[in-house]
Amino acid sequence: MPNQSQPAAPILVDSLNDSSQPIKTTCPYCGVGCGIDITSNNGKAMISGDKYHPANFGKLCIKGKNLGDTLDNHNRLDLPQINKSPQSWPRALDYVASKLNQTISEHGKDSVAFYVSGQLLTEDYYVANKLMKGFIGTGNIDTNSRLCMSSAVAGHKRAFGEDIVPMSYSDITKADLIVITGSNLAWCHPVIYQRIRDEKQRRPELRIVVIDPRITASKELADLHLPISPGGDLILFNSLLHYLNQQQLIDPSFETADQIDALNNVLSSASDDYLRLNEIGLADADIAQFFQWFAQSERVVTLFSQGINQSQQGTDQTNAIINCHVASGKIGKIGCGPFSITGQPNAMGGREVGALANTLAGHIEFDDTELLQPLSDFWQTKNLATKPGLKAIELFDAIDAGKIKAIWIMATNPLVSLPDQNKVRQALEKCPLVIVSDCVASNDTLALADVILPAQTWGEKSGTVTNSERRISRQRRFLAPFGRAKADWWIISQVAQRMGFASQFDYTSARDIFTEHARLSGLENSGSRAFDISAFSHLTQAQYDNFMPRQWPQPQGQPLVVSDQLLFSDNRYFTANKKVRLVNVSAGSIQISPREFTLNTGRNRDQWHTQTRTGKTAILTNHHPEPLVDMHSDDAKLRGIVDQQLVVLTSDQGKLIVRTNISTMQRRGDLFIPIHWSHSNSNQGGVGKLVKPVYDPISGQPAFKHSKVDIEPLSVNSEAMIIVKQPLSLDIAQYQVEQRIKGGYCYHLASAEQPELLYQRLNTIVLANHQFESFERLSASDPSKQYYRQSYLIAGQLAAGVVVAETKGQLPNGWLSQFYQTTDDNEAKRRFISGDVKQQQQQKTFCQCLNIPVGQITNALESGDLTVAQIRAATGAGGGCGSCIGDISLLIESACVTG
Ligand code: SF4
Repeated sequence: MPNQSQPAAPILVDSLNDSSQPIKTTCPYCGVGCGIDITSNNGKAMISGDKYHPANFGKLCIKGKNLGDTLDNHNRLDLPQINKSPQSWPRALDYVASKLNQTISEHGKDSVAFYVSGQLLTEDYYVANKLMKGFIGTGNIDTNSRLCMSSAVAGHKRAFGEDIVPMSYSDITKADLIVITGSNLAWCHPVIYQRIRDEKQRRPELRIVVIDPRITASKELADLHLPISPGGDLILFNSLLHYLNQQQLIDPSFETADQIDALNNVLSSASDDYLRLNEIGLADADIAQFFQWFAQSERVVTLFSQGINQSQQGTDQTNAIINCHVASGKIGKIGCGPFSITGQPNAMGGREVGALANTLAGHIEFDDTELLQPLSDFWQTKNLATKPGLKAIELFDAIDAGKIKAIWIMATNPLVSLPDQNKVRQALEKCPLVIVSDCVASNDTLALADVILPAQTWGEKSGTVTNSERRISRQRRFLAPFGRAKADWWIISQVAQRMGFASQFDYTSARDIFTEHARLSGLENSGSRAFDISAFSHLTQAQYDNFMPRQWPQPQGQPLVVSDQLLFSDNRYFTANKKVRLVNVSAGSIQISPREFTLNTGRNRDQWHTQTRTGKTAILTNHHPEPLVDMHSDDAKLRGIVDQQLVVLTSDQGKLIVRTNISTMQRRGDLFIPIHWSHSNSNQGGVGKLVKPVYDPISGQPAFKHSKVDIEPLSVNSEAMIIVKQPLSLDIAQYQVEQRIKGGYCYHLASAEQPELLYQRLNTIVLANHQFESFERLSASDPSKQYYRQSYLIAGQLAAGVVVAETKGQLPNGWLSQFYQTTDDNEAKRRFISGDVKQQQQQKTFCQCLNIPVGQITNALESGDLTVAQIRAATGAGGGCGSCIGDISLLIESACVTG
């Protein structure tokens, strides 16, 4: 059963003790892929940045820094379950294998599918892909990386002939101009952002352009911010290409007839789109400045991420960026090139093994027909898939249509992460066999599983990952696996053996799989595919154990490359004729002006995906305890909506109640909601309920950033917070969000009930839930002001609390994070909870590392027109991991607006 209340403490592996060398591993969150040193302190894992890892040189962001707090074995599962009943591993594996075989024999091989994840290690990914494409014989395996970078993959293949990110992180800091587009790098890839900040301090002449409809923390470093209309990127980059042509800056090395034809076609579309520049909401002078800087800078890096990829034109947008670099010769040189920054820790590893439905394996494509037989021979199979399978949204549509009868979901939570969650739920409810392997015991998707297979989590599992700069690093085990949880590669191999493929899946270690993957990368390669790591084909266990981070390619027979590798410097690409391809893309019929509100989605600074891990840490949940919809103040005024109010958003797909965050940092007509909430921590579920399941026709990547929605105020009579030691059900009020806090849970609630009645009901719930034997109450209610506050103390420590008022603004949010750190003097606590709410809000921690409250920053702001650097100097904020520095700029922005 899920272990909700008394999680067993994690146990370090025997080789890690207080006097041993650190175990080196990598962070499980974003695609930066930071190296981490794990040491032991009295049997507790201590986390620090690996100063020798080239991705981070010792730095970690706030998420990485607080990984230690997530190692609590809360919500883990000991044994497999079939229809909610615990089973032994042999029985569960037999069941899965026989059910899959039965489904295939009754309905054909295309009736089964795997939906996998960028959280898997490369070895897990490899085995899953091999089983599906090599032995079941269908392409029906897709990964949740489809949602984050498949448009970049498709764009790379069209231009370069292969899915290649040609850059290294070191190129970013060698550029004269860095263009950040479609990415809030400061929040989503903080260590790279901080590297840029350091370089900007060292070299103030380094120019930075941020292209984003929103004002985000990444604007802090921008010399120029372009608040582009959603969907305007294609027009902007095509117009840039037109400008480069006007300035006669097209690379003269396009000389063959084919290349000149392609160039002329591309330039013709670019000049058409140039006529539409006035549609994308930017000032002429700003556009001119951007174009001039791009043209004049010898070394330009364009960093792009989900704002480019998660669009119905994601692939074309990627190629519009690449075209500008290729046509002006700003590629294949140090400090120069298009750089897709991936979201997940091992999205690129999945691409390497072929876990996207439309690739085969080891960067071999389905249309590489001459390689199909060698691959079949390599895998010793006669059943190799010969055509692409279904991409994520098509795959879940096929489940809904009854065509797919068995789905195995690994390490991902599609019920929260896919668009149109109501339809995904309906599909999974209908599906005759839903198998889920995961490292947690409960989440939205697991609730619909027929079979649950407990997998090992970060710290327990062991293998490799590849980060955004093509660098393969080890994740190493430093914790004993919880209960009987198993490695994903082991689970898949055991099922494969039981399905009848014993000799082809007889792996005994992750190393066995990695070396096979390396050998496959060299299959009939001889330089025809850049992805070649055949140099690692024969690693011994000791060499695998000691594997140092390395970028690919690393072909066998050539000296191992230790330094950063820049690809395309020899002007050789991986197309049939070895030339780069300019891809003719055009904004065509794209409508820029929205008729209703356009909903954008994305990440918060301190959370990761569906909060399964980051949601455990009070420090991380403190940043944004509830999901907020960002809205421009002028739009809010017109709709009669105020800050911190609850609103109802409606789309064709569904409805969602969230709280507003009103500012001028959002463009008029645009809204933004983060992706991190689900039915596991909010009775409203996640923003995916609102997102229409439309996608890029080439990459299949869903358009998460352009949903049409309406927004209306929601009237409630009371707002409340309830603090408890044990979790409560999520059906207490009309609106309810769960936040993990130190030592317990905080629920943020809103209700149609009058405050006094809600207060009475919540106190009853607290007492029933906890059944305290003895406690002391601290009351600080003032019915005349319609606010009610009560704390329950046991031995002077807060055991529970209830706070109710008419509006959210009357609730003392900030004191939550501070309460446990205040004096043991109960009278002081009483004074604190009865104090002025505004003052209490100022107690909220701003800089988590140094425990600096927001009040110190706002005081500094009031003392004059200060820069971020001056506020840092005055308060010390940002002196730890640096993650909050961009947020100082946001406070300055909002102070400029309000003050
Ligand atoms: Fe982890 Fe990314 Fe933060 Fe590095 S930047 S510590 S990889 S979340």
